[in-house]
Amino acid sequence: MKDYETARAGLIKQLEAEIKEKRVLAAMARIPREKFVPKESSHLAYEDGPLPIGWEQTISQPYIIALMTEALELKGDEKVLEIGTGSGYQTAILAELSKTVISVERVPALAESAQRVLNSLGYKNIEIHMAKDTLGWPEMAPYDAIMVTAGAPDIPDDLLVQLAIGGRMVIPAGPRHVQELYRVTRLKDQNRVEKLGGCRFVALIGKGAWEN
Ligand code: SAH
Repeated sequence: MKDYETARAGLIKQLEAEIKEKRVLAAMARIPREKFVPKESSHLAYEDGPLPIGWEQTISQPYIIALMTEALELKGDEKVLEIGTGSGYQTAILAELSKTVISVERVPALAESAQRVLNSLGYKNIEIHMAKDTLGWPEMAPYDAIMVTAGAPDIPDDLLVQLAIGGRMVIPAGPRHVQELYRVTRLKDQNRVEKLGGCRFVALIGKGAWEN
């Protein structure tokens, strides 16, 4: 629809002020965010804010999504793990920018609707799994990049070990309702930890994170 395209172009233009990685912006310019938000809020799909997606979860703010994706420094040949499929919007962006995306979600209805939308858009390089009580998806480790889209109390060791040497993990960590965004690069000796700014995410639930 013409209106969505105009609104999408407007949002991308706005993001250009802060996001320098052209591949991230180009991917976001191709993906119809309106398909990932509930019908009643589709008119808000291109506002730069989070939106409720049911089950007390939210689709993240486009700016934060762009910032986190940029920080992963994807070149196109990576195997990426995403924790918290939610709407599937971030999953689509990762699929555009890497080789394979393994995404885990703990709410079955969200995993199902994300899978449906991603199938309808023709993505073939995404696997969605139901989360177990341990974090991540060790079966397919190591990953070149890990994107965590829910807030953890600390940076979980259980996730760090699923990262390849040289791999990057972007994760919000800190108190339950307001966190700091971190990029952790796994190195042979000591990992590199960088702060990317403040953020607010719903809680990461599971062993090594928050209790439900
Ligand atoms: N990237 C998503 C964000 C959804 S909110 C989007 O933009 O739409 C975070 C999601 O993480 C929620 O759907 C929540 O159910 C999920 N989640 C929380 N803890 C999890 C865990 N341990 N494993 C997998 N998913 C988890």
